[in-house]
Amino acid sequence: MVFEKSDNFEALITCFHPDMKILIVEDEQGICRFLSEGLQEEGYETVIANDGAKGLEAFFEQKPDLVLLDWMLPTIDGIEVLKRIRDADRVTPVLFLTAKDTVANAVEGLRTGANDYIKKPFSFDELLERIKVHFRNHTDDDNRFLGNVRINVSSRQAFVDGQEVKLTMREFDLLLYLIDHKGTVCTRDEIIRHVWGIKFQYDTGVIDVFMNSLRKKLMTDRDKGIIRTVRGVGFIATETDGKDER
Ligand code: CA
Repeated sequence: MVFEKSDNFEALITCFHPDMKILIVEDEQGICRFLSEGLQEEGYETVIANDGAKGLEAFFEQKPDLVLLDWMLPTIDGIEVLKRIRDADRVTPVLFLTAKDTVANAVEGLRTGANDYIKKPFSFDELLERIKVHFRNHTDDDNRFLGNVRINVSSRQAFVDGQEVKLTMREFDLLLYLIDHKGTVCTRDEIIRHVWGIKFQYDTGVIDVFMNSLRKKLMTDRDKGIIRTVRGVGFIATETDGKDER
């Protein structure tokens, strides 16, 4: 199903939330089952991890869109799991689910980078509403995706497999332009005009210098990667890494 961006876009997202994956990190089997079944009925995909270490592993492997995180967990506790997630990813919403309901705990959780804090016992309907709010905030125009790359337009951060990579201002603008036009060939002239500005007088060969540096940082190949060279024309951003195509 393809959604046109319109006034009803948010409403559609909250009804169908296509491909939204929720990671549940919780050691109590009953709660896991209750949450997972409830969320699946609402159309979300769920992944369950029963301790902190498995939760971290699942986070980096599964790349969920949102995390429900218990505080008291075997192997690695929730607050430490959150710290390690936030070291690599400041964007994915993380909601604490916890019986530790003191103010101090809530503040510690939020300071560490949790987006919300829900006290056990909670009602499923309330949790669902909070999840929808965070998805609405998260599925705005702030984040753009290309293969294993995500960029956040407001914070001007770029992530490869959830790990932040430092881009220069121009590299970021170049990547943003290509992602905004993914699937279409962008000519060197178009790129110069939009990324460097209409008054830029230099040779368009400057793009190749920036493109090489950008690809190196994104660890992607010029012929098969997510940003490919179209010889004699320009460049194209594409979701597939093309490893099986040639
Ligand atoms: Ca627990």
